[in-house]
Amino acid sequence: MIATSDIVVHPVSQSKLHNLQLENIPFGKHFTDHMLVAEYRNGAWGKVVIEPFNHISISPSLSALHYGQSIFEGVKAYRLADGQTAIFRPYDNFKRFNLSAERMCMPTVPEDIFIDGMKQLVALDAAWVPQFPDHSLYIRPFMFASEDAIGVKPSDSYLFMILLSPTGPYFMAPMRIYVEEQLVRAAPGGVGFAKTAGNYAAAMYASAQAKKAGYDQVLWTDALEHKYVQEIGVMNVFFIINNTAITPSLDEGTILEGVTRASVITVLQEMGLDVEERRISIDEVVEAYQNGTLREVFGTGTAATIAFIKELKYKETTMQFDTPAWQIAPQVKSTLYNLRYGLEPDTHGWLELV
Ligand SMILES: *Cc1c(COP(=O)(O)O)cnc(C)c1O
Repeated sequence: MIATSDIVVHPVSQSKLHNLQLENIPFGKHFTDHMLVAEYRNGAWGKVVIEPFNHISISPSLSALHYGQSIFEGVKAYRLADGQTAIFRPYDNFKRFNLSAERMCMPTVPEDIFIDGMKQLVALDAAWVPQFPDHSLYIRPFMFASEDAIGVKPSDSYLFMILLSPTGPYFMAPMRIYVEEQLVRAAPGGVGFAKTAGNYAAAMYASAQAKKAGYDQVLWTDALEHKYVQEIGVMNVFFIINNTAITPSLDEGTILEGVTRASVITVLQEMGLDVEERRISIDEVVEAYQNGTLREVFGTGTAATIAFIKELKYKETTMQFDTPAWQIAPQVKSTLYNLRYGLEPDTHGWLELV
């Protein structure tokens, strides 16, 4: 195991932060002074380096470019009310990252590199964590096959890296969604549960079609019958029917197990709702809408936290929702907000101070 002290740090001579206004900064465009790099080679992780953010040099034969062994995570650090910096539930992302790694025939990353490296990197660039409401520091750990060879096989070498990107509020207007009945995101036995680049590449066509048709996203359904719902775009989905929250279960391996999903389940239960993780068919959703028991539909993910759905279309049925009148999703959203920014006591142990 590598102790944190084994992380070599080459700090920048001068921060570029003074050139930048962090308020309302757009998502994913600006990166902090430093990044973390670790290389896996000959069956072992080598030294871990935190160095100035810069381009990396790769061969055109880099195997990740050809065969897509590439996985990532999305995590956020927040500036707490008391000025400290905390990362939200990084151990959940760490576990999920290694599940993705195993599924893609990639090496797992030890905790000393993923967690300790992340904490040390965030601590070094802590001045970049915006102090404005609804702002955060987005953390992007990722790993890709780095062998310079185009033979089809798991790569012999990998690069694990962490980038940091300050980000402003993610304004997301209530969305119009249709139920996707042709294209498929995930099938049993596939890679739907893994946060792998190919899942994103494969989903872009459906999103683009949705946008062309005047919608924001699609609601994915199961690959075999197009009957059971899966996720909304790259977010998990919740339906509030009567006093029960229902979200698709994970057993088939077709759902990405969101950290926000897990947090929302906990918060909903603490609000007194019953939460069911199970198969839910689109017919059940339509029926609940028609008999007036479908109260709210929303997506969950690290970027937007909770995304409200104002319209859901399935075949000839258009379901519409009066999102400003909703009670549950807005409360979940504000509870999560307060927990993330340390405005409420961290009773769940979700905040990892750096
Ligand atoms: C990342 C992701 C989510 C949300 O996960 P969070 O940990 O809540 O950010 C949901 N669905 C898909 C397909 C994803 O890739």
